[in-house]
Amino acid sequence: MNEQLYIDGAWRKPVSGQTIPVVCPSDGKEFARIARGTAGDVDAAVAAARRAYEGPWGKTTALERGRLMMKVGVKIAEHAEELAQLEARDTGKPLKQARADMVAAARYFEFYGAASDKVHGEVIPFLAGYTVMVKHDPRGVTGHIIPWNYPAQMFGRTLAPALACGNATVLKPAEEACLTVLRITELVHEVGFPPGVVNVVTGYGEEAGAALASHPGIDFIAFTGSPGVGTLIQKASAEHHRACVLELGGKSPQIVFEDAPFETALPVVVNAIVQNAGQTCSAGSRVLVQRSVYDRFMGMLAERFARLRVGTHDMDLDCGPLISAVQRDRVQGFVQAARKEGVPVLAEAQLAPNLPAGGYYAAPVLFGNVPPTHTLAREEVFGPVLSAIPFEDEADAVRIANGTPFGLAAGIWTRDGTRQLRVANAMRCGQVFVNGYGAGGGIELPFGGIKRSGHGREKGLEAMREFSVVKTIVINHG
Ligand code: NAP
Ligand code: MG
Repeated sequence: MNEQLYIDGAWRKPVSGQTIPVVCPSDGKEFARIARGTAGDVDAAVAAARRAYEGPWGKTTALERGRLMMKVGVKIAEHAEELAQLEARDTGKPLKQARADMVAAARYFEFYGAASDKVHGEVIPFLAGYTVMVKHDPRGVTGHIIPWNYPAQMFGRTLAPALACGNATVLKPAEEACLTVLRITELVHEVGFPPGVVNVVTGYGEEAGAALASHPGIDFIAFTGSPGVGTLIQKASAEHHRACVLELGGKSPQIVFEDAPFETALPVVVNAIVQNAGQTCSAGSRVLVQRSVYDRFMGMLAERFARLRVGTHDMDLDCGPLISAVQRDRVQGFVQAARKEGVPVLAEAQLAPNLPAGGYYAAPVLFGNVPPTHTLAREEVFGPVLSAIPFEDEADAVRIANGTPFGLAAGIWTRDGTRQLRVANAMRCGQVFVNGYGAGGGIELPFGGIKRSGHGREKGLEAMREFSVVKTIVINHG
């Protein structure tokens, strides 16, 4: 099915008749092709979704929707190993990460499947003789554009809450990695969703993605990706006076105070930046360390960093390759520029020997004493590059932590309970972890940003608010 699009409950060839090569980042070799969907395919998908929404799908009960979704969760779990192998090959991520991703992908369908009939409205006290109800209606037809870093998880994260609310959906995955999206779509088909409820159009962002974002037939769009494309999505939404949810990455800090539990913090701080080779929107890409313990903590951190191992997805080490040559060059551009400017490298990990020459490898790098105004401390690198910044006291830590254009997540490491809450309250971002860091983990936890990280919330029950619209019904019954 890889070379076809899923529209109106059936697999079909794209209007263009063309395909796009899919390469494995571990060796840079083509191993599959996907369909090059364009505007005509998006038209067909949106029309199918509209028919489904106005037809049988619009009449299903929340219970029926939930049952179908739970079945998708079970199917993903049953096919988890096959899907993980495919995800690892398609994205280059280590197998253990791909396996964890499949657990999360299944969980999205379980969580929202179970939630579908539990989100209800309110009755508002009003004038005598009136009853006022507040209902949560579906948006209608929702568009979804997802990136390549966690394709299977993103499929669940964006589609499951939309389906639970009763929307019909059109999804455009990233052309760099979407094979598990296509495979899970087959599973969605097998459990018996009515035609048109889920449509998947693969293709380039500038073609299929732009056509979906500007389509007059959708009622809402959910996007995860770069701030630049997020701006285009928001502009297209404005043209049609419709809402959107944008999740655009971050520059999330880990704040290590002098009384932090170092041994607990160290592996988490390392993982938060090397998980998925740093290609995670909520990657902990800055570590802010109190000056009094800076040298001691950084010494321990550097030791761990230097020990990290990078290899192919099936070597299953700490870190795999980056997704593409473009991303590798972008990440190396940040690293080379910082080195040239004299930002000190405290540790650099090693690539495993004899890696395939065509792979897109970048060794994890730990930079020290990064000035808070430096590009490395402000821009999203989207690679395994950690910038350490010393701070003097709590006020200084808060100022530096909040001092980037982004605001997605933060980690706070301290044993002082009052400080935990004070600093958490002061963080200008969407998610704060204390003495831990989920790197976006937790299907139940509302997630999203402020500032350049975007707006709106995914995950948790909050996502169901985004994918529904409030209707107030006022009845004068005397
Ligand atoms: P991107 O271009 O924003 O891609 C995200 C999604 O948007 C993909 O499905 C992409 O399709 C699609 N897209 C691209 N141009 C579009 C357009 N004009 N209209 C509608 N959709 C469009 O991100 P990228 O180029 O892959 O990565 C660049 C940088 O973005 C990264 O280095 C990172 O900093 C950031 N990023 C953030 C996240 C996150 O999780 N927040 C994820 C990915 C990237 P195609 O890829 O198929 O063209
Ligand atoms: Mg792209």
